[in-house]
Amino acid sequence: MEFLNLSHPDDRVDFATAVQRGLGRGRGLYFPERIEPLADVDAVLDMDFVSRSGHLLAGLAGLDPGLAQRLVTSAFDFPIEQVKVGEAVHALELFHGPSLAFKDFGARFLAACLAEFSDGAPTTILTATSGDTGAAVAHAFHGLPGVRAVILYPRGRISPLQEKLFCTLGGNVHTVSVDADFDTCQALVKEAFEEESLRQELGLNSANSINVARLLAQVSYYFESVARLGGTAPVFCVPSGNFGNVTACGVARALGLPMARILAATNRNDTVPRYLEGGDWAPRATVATLSNAMDISRPNNFPRVEELARRAGIPIGEYLDAVAVDDADTREAIRALDADGYLADPHSALAWRALDQSLRPGETGVFLCTAHPAKFAEVIEDTLGRTLPLPPALAAVRDLPVLSAEIPGDFAALRRELRSA
Ligand SMILES: *Cc1c(COP(=O)(O)O)cnc(C)c1O
Repeated sequence: MEFLNLSHPDDRVDFATAVQRGLGRGRGLYFPERIEPLADVDAVLDMDFVSRSGHLLAGLAGLDPGLAQRLVTSAFDFPIEQVKVGEAVHALELFHGPSLAFKDFGARFLAACLAEFSDGAPTTILTATSGDTGAAVAHAFHGLPGVRAVILYPRGRISPLQEKLFCTLGGNVHTVSVDADFDTCQALVKEAFEEESLRQELGLNSANSINVARLLAQVSYYFESVARLGGTAPVFCVPSGNFGNVTACGVARALGLPMARILAATNRNDTVPRYLEGGDWAPRATVATLSNAMDISRPNNFPRVEELARRAGIPIGEYLDAVAVDDADTREAIRALDADGYLADPHSALAWRALDQSLRPGETGVFLCTAHPAKFAEVIEDTLGRTLPLPPALAAVRDLPVLSAEIPGDFAALRRELRSA
């Protein structure tokens, strides 16, 4: 399987190279050259999660089946739950991994791939996080020999518990708090990749969802969801920031996974909903919301979604539905779900709200629960007026000191930090 750079289609590489480079020439995103529909979707749905995921990833990445199986067995070593929360609505819980967010799927698969493909040269994984990627990457790479993880995040714009979960590890995990928003952190990472000498010197790689390994790993749980629904084709509602998760949903659809529609839910950073309603691509300044992991106004993965729509021969406005939900409605959704006995974090509650608004009679809906509610304990306690018990992973880090370096949001400062750290 070849991967092509969507900005420079003559830049074609194999999966291992795409994963090791992260970004292609001219900041281009790698994507599978073609995605063949599966010959027998029903048989694939009948497999167990890990065997099915190995099978899917072997095909998507062009990997030896035995190797693919080994990679997913080590990466996907935690459960998935799917819970019915209404007549025709199901919560797909993806937060039962070590960092309590769905990003564990992609980050752990990426770490397993990089360890497998490594030629032994020292590597720096440079990543920007809007909250949850950092923890997933930090936990996936912590203690791996020959790898240093450098993680940038926007100071004061992630939840205190999110910060504790990855900025207290130390060792080969170096965290950098940047006085800027997430879009700036993401731009700094891209700039570092463009400086060829720095890239070579540090053996730079990225664990952001620009890395195609993460996206492909995420295809696995869409299949698991439909398998658990007994083959019903659902509406998938995906709480979206950088649109990596929606891309994975689109890849699952291209493989032939039955689904009725794809619905992207955003917060007030609504570049995509405005665009799909026929507007221009017109990102505005990023605003801080309760669903901070989605405070992104320039979603990096959108060119991949457009590529999927183009290949499917469907105009982007029909390929994807999108709904923006504001903070007041997010809080109301947290309350409404709680009244029904279901506790959801702000991102997941926002997705439920978008789905609830959009679901038509006769449709079955699945909303993705992307983070454990306790990760956003402050918002939930404030909304529901009661305290939440902390799961062990969070209780263990709550009182540890934050070890992050602090820099302003400019590239010279990042370069200095990367060379000195
Ligand atoms: C990263 C994240 C999202 C957004 O996912 P994208 O793939 O960037 O669209 C949603 N919810 C949570 C909790 C996240 O951490």
